[in-house]
Amino acid sequence: MPNISGPLVRWFARVGRDLPWRRSRDPYGVWLSEIMLQQTQVERVKDYYTRFLATFPDVHTLAAAREERVLKLWEGLGYYRRARQLHAAAKRIVADHGGVFPRTAAELRSLPGIGRYTAGAIASIAFDAPEPIVEANSRRVLARVAGHDRPLDGPRGEAAIWEIAAAVVPRRAAGRFNQALMDLGALVCTPTRPLCTACPLATRCVAWRTRRTDAIPVPASRRETKRVRETALVIRHGDHVLVERRKPGEWWEGLWDFPRDAAAARGRKLGAVRYTVTHHAIECIVRERAAARRARPTKDRRWVTAAGLATLAMTAPGRRIAALLKPG
Ligand code: SF4
Repeated sequence: MPNISGPLVRWFARVGRDLPWRRSRDPYGVWLSEIMLQQTQVERVKDYYTRFLATFPDVHTLAAAREERVLKLWEGLGYYRRARQLHAAAKRIVADHGGVFPRTAAELRSLPGIGRYTAGAIASIAFDAPEPIVEANSRRVLARVAGHDRPLDGPRGEAAIWEIAAAVVPRRAAGRFNQALMDLGALVCTPTRPLCTACPLATRCVAWRTRRTDAIPVPASRRETKRVRETALVIRHGDHVLVERRKPGEWWEGLWDFPRDAAAARGRKLGAVRYTVTHHAIECIVRERAAARRARPTKDRRWVTAAGLATLAMTAPGRRIAALLKPG
């Protein structure tokens, strides 16, 4: 691999993005931003990041918070497992490390929700450790610069791209280098029509020199979308409706939603909500019926009013179903 650090970091100093989490190298903020940025666009993360930090300014306040509160702040960001693991990791940092962030990638990876990428990002950005990172943007840049024309999915593809990342990360200022790599992927080396003539790595890039930017990276094999139908039940008792908490192992674990019943055809149809989760396209028919009596509430089952719904941490489809309700 050619040495790409110099031109890349100089480019970054000129045009790198000014993002809220880049104004400090505090590991807590770096960690929070990296978890939020997994599977969520930068623009969307900005507000969530600022609000979250205002509510839980450090690892101690987060560790002491109730999970419900953490999930509520996360509502709308999706992939709630991230929030639960963030919370669990905060508790571990306080309990096992006295509230001080571990500094090495290996120690960081022992915490819930911190994989190879996130550990590398925290260790390099907050502590300047020469750790490589691979995420969607840097993966594309690295594959193109190296002219790596084999598939990147699967364990083999992953291992190859991590090897390339490890070969290019500099001994010093690795955090700046890694951020520059991500910015180049986001701003210049875009998935389609990369701006090669404006790229600081053009003279070192194999894909550009050999006119193969369209072919690299090699697209991952596509998974087929599965169609699923389900029925959501709005069970009313007076001005209250029944909601349940999603169970461990289910999508949106720990968040509130309306009960599902695959077989239910009874009740008045209120409408339908369509949504996708991973490779599932789900059509959810929403039916409403009155309960003869109010089943006893439990930790994972509650009767709430419309105002009560607004305060719950709800799943994305649950929130859309709630919007279909008329006052009881
Ligand atoms: S020259 Fe083009 S393909 Fe190569 S890194 Fe730069 S933008 Fe990407």
